[in-house]
Amino acid sequence: MKTPSKTADIENFLAGKLKEEGDSMKKILLAIGFALFSSMQTYAAPTSNIVVTIAPLHSLVQGVMGETGEAELLVKGYASPHDFQLKPSQIASLQQADFVFYVGENLETFLLSALETLPEGTEKVALAKQPGVSALDVREGGNWEGHDHSAHGSHKDGTHDHEESVDPHIWLDPANAIAMVKVITRELSKAHPENRSLYKANALAVISDIELRDKEIKALLQPVQAVPFVVFHDAFQYFEKHYDLTAVGSIVIDPTESASVKRLAALRQKVVEVGAVCIFREPQFSDRLSVVVAEGTKAKLATIDPMGAALPLGAGFYPTLLEEIAEGMASCLGK
Ligand SMILES: [Zn+2]
Repeated sequence: MKTPSKTADIENFLAGKLKEEGDSMKKILLAIGFALFSSMQTYAAPTSNIVVTIAPLHSLVQGVMGETGEAELLVKGYASPHDFQLKPSQIASLQQADFVFYVGENLETFLLSALETLPEGTEKVALAKQPGVSALDVREGGNWEGHDHSAHGSHKDGTHDHEESVDPHIWLDPANAIAMVKVITRELSKAHPENRSLYKANALAVISDIELRDKEIKALLQPVQAVPFVVFHDAFQYFEKHYDLTAVGSIVIDPTESASVKRLAALRQKVVEVGAVCIFREPQFSDRLSVVVAEGTKAKLATIDPMGAALPLGAGFYPTLLEEIAEGMASCLGK
């Protein structure tokens, strides 16, 4: 990071000295001053051995780490955390990790047995359980009734005991992402106090980027807030709540299992009854069931991706993910 005020300080200090000490000292002092300053500018202790489970969290962690290192991502591309399996090389990375950042035991079930074998001292940070991260209850069934804003799911502080009932898709609420950035900054700073101010500056940049995008998305989605739609699996509850949208059901309860014929028929009935305008499929899963539900209804099929599989990784990933979901929804739900 550039700190022009420090350059000025050093130069002023040197200029003062130079008057007193003449020309020969001038060169020496300047050399020392610039050596000191250039080391201050570039010095950042490397942040290594950081493992993150899913791309949205990876984006937040990488945003805080900045240029100090590269976090390793486990669930890549079009893989889904719901049915993921670790590769042997990833188990080896976990053994070497100083930090493992993940959502929690409701999402990364593939990680749980590996976590238990990690050396003592490995920091395992379940972000869903951290202060400031809101948790919503899993909605009952998938074809949940209506969309009464007061009836389903209440914000909790994430420290409650009912792990089973927590909806793990916490990253789709930008307020949660901001809270997670703060947790990540705190955790990494504990391990690398020499990078504290750098992490903090990076975190502030990430947060302001999220806040800016959030405002744009609110404006984009405001006209379609009341337009009903169906999702493939119940991944978007946090997004719907934050932007006050009207989802009326999901095609499957568990994305790794199929849906019964009875359920699909009930859902198609629902689509007709409430006049659902869109059925959103997800690229991680076959669209066969979405096509079946849409048949004979006026609902349009469109794709949204809660994981951002096609997006480039890194600090910019997260705000782009929010934007992509919002644009996908708005363009299908809008007239
Ligand atoms: Zn999911």
